[in-house]
Amino acid sequence: MPGSHRYTRLIGFLFGGALAIPPALFTAFHNPVFFSHLGWTLFFIAFIPGLIGLIAGQGIALLFPRYRHFFLNLKIFILVCLLLISIWLGVWGVAVSRSSRTLGPAWPKLVVIGLDAATWDIMDPMIQAGDLPHLASLCRDGARGPLETLSPIWSPVIWTSIATGRLPEHHGITGYYGTRADLKCARVWDITASHGKRTGLFGWLLTWPPENQFVFTIPSWMARSTETIPARYSFIQELNLNRDSSRGDARPLNILFRGILNGWQIPTAIEYTNNPLQIPVDPDEAFIRQHFISVMPCVDVYLALLREQNPQVTCFCLYGMDHLGHRFWKDFDPTGFKESPQKPRPEYRYVIPDYYRLADAAVGRLLAVLPQETTIVVLSDHGMGPDYAAPARYVFNMDRILEAAGMRGWFSVSFAQRRYILHPVIDLTDEQSERVRKTLRDLSLAEQETPLFEISDENGDMILNPQMEMLVDPESPLAVTEGLRVNGQLIPKEELYEIRHLSGSHRSNGILIVKGPEIVLGIRFQDAGVLDIAPTLLAILGLPVSKEMPGRVLEEMFLDGYLDRHPISWVDSYPPPPAVKDETGEEIHIDDRLRGLGYIE
Ligand SMILES: [Zn+2]
Repeated sequence: MPGSHRYTRLIGFLFGGALAIPPALFTAFHNPVFFSHLGWTLFFIAFIPGLIGLIAGQGIALLFPRYRHFFLNLKIFILVCLLLISIWLGVWGVAVSRSSRTLGPAWPKLVVIGLDAATWDIMDPMIQAGDLPHLASLCRDGARGPLETLSPIWSPVIWTSIATGRLPEHHGITGYYGTRADLKCARVWDITASHGKRTGLFGWLLTWPPENQFVFTIPSWMARSTETIPARYSFIQELNLNRDSSRGDARPLNILFRGILNGWQIPTAIEYTNNPLQIPVDPDEAFIRQHFISVMPCVDVYLALLREQNPQVTCFCLYGMDHLGHRFWKDFDPTGFKESPQKPRPEYRYVIPDYYRLADAAVGRLLAVLPQETTIVVLSDHGMGPDYAAPARYVFNMDRILEAAGMRGWFSVSFAQRRYILHPVIDLTDEQSERVRKTLRDLSLAEQETPLFEISDENGDMILNPQMEMLVDPESPLAVTEGLRVNGQLIPKEELYEIRHLSGSHRSNGILIVKGPEIVLGIRFQDAGVLDIAPTLLAILGLPVSKEMPGRVLEEMFLDGYLDRHPISWVDSYPPPPAVKDETGEEIHIDDRLRGLGYIE
């Protein structure tokens, strides 16, 4: 039968394609935007399975001549074609009907984009060079200027001052050790939620534990667990928290599948698959890769939350400019580091500018779905610049220590202000708690008797304070030790710590860009400060400003007549946010005596 083999191949191809239909339908129901890239979609769920089917069909026709006629029959071929085309159209129908590329009628009125440590010193030259097209367009179409921060320049403190419009002594967040439970005054988010506006938070500092008053909350890198609202997005926190603690215990396949079903698009899934987090690499390389890889998954999830939850007021924050800026400033701008013991590494020159480009691309993806009516505020909590004098420090590999102690997976570890915060992620029995305490208390270097850490408890977390000088020094006990003995097992010094050089440090001037239907084009702020943001956001939303807020509404940015039509209104104060409850329903209390601890710099 001449030409019959053509049908054999085609029918096999189509049968193979059919194999992809059930998983495709399943994905289309859960996450229709996964199919928003037609080319990749056809490649992955039609071409690849089709190819497998082609080979299988050929094989069956050759090995089982009895069934050969089935593959050679023109009528069957046409039937299968029609069937497949109609099923595929069905899949497309589901995907298209469930995904709208634009947002629903309840588009966000206000979107705040937080870029921790973003500075005009880097942005302006890059904008001039055409490297940050989306941020450049916001600057062109809106108001821009420096944003003066508060001292001491600690991110959780400043982001909370931005959100509350209040000074740290009033809002209650005074250091790196803190959670939403420490907060004493209302944030803009609490105010909008209490006025019945749907409010959704992504990555704002100190939004852990997440609260039901918001339509969604993905807490920041300082979260102590992977909890999110809605709960199905907790995988994005697994990805983020793994990045920041370098735990290396994330489950990449699990994250991939949950991402595919919850908001990721095909290019994100491909990118993620190309960067397995499990491969052990140099700590700097791992740090860079983990920061770069988490941006687009976060954007995908945020876009999914915007579509799904229709927030009227919402924020989205990225932290890589800060985290990478601390470590790679000398490589980005080696001038001034010539005399420093920290040698610039030309191979890392790309890190900081590439992250800015990535953040710009993220902003671009948000702009693409937001209508012109949305007011967009882009800001940073502080700027960043070179730190020529910063010494190199030892940083313990706490996960390795916990692993050797047989406590892997018991805690999430964060490191802030030279202390290690161990937050239990499993319910520890009394016997286990006792064992943890004893093991950690007994830790000492192989040659010494003195304990390595002083241990204290705060809100059920264990705080480990190193009892030795952590500056890098060839005479240091850490430099000459054989290692650390944990339950009879030796962690050699090469695995015990990494040496961290921080060559960038915070600066007092951050950035502010505001673009919206009521904002003057191209004006420049002269004296905006972080305390002005909360009153300004309330004025944009038409909500009363609290007389307790020391900042001012940035009136100069509004179009003529706007404030006549929408005069600023005032209240004496806003009530503090609702108390935070822990899993047992008990209110979380912070022991005031401990509050002052550990804020030494
Ligand atoms: Zn920082």
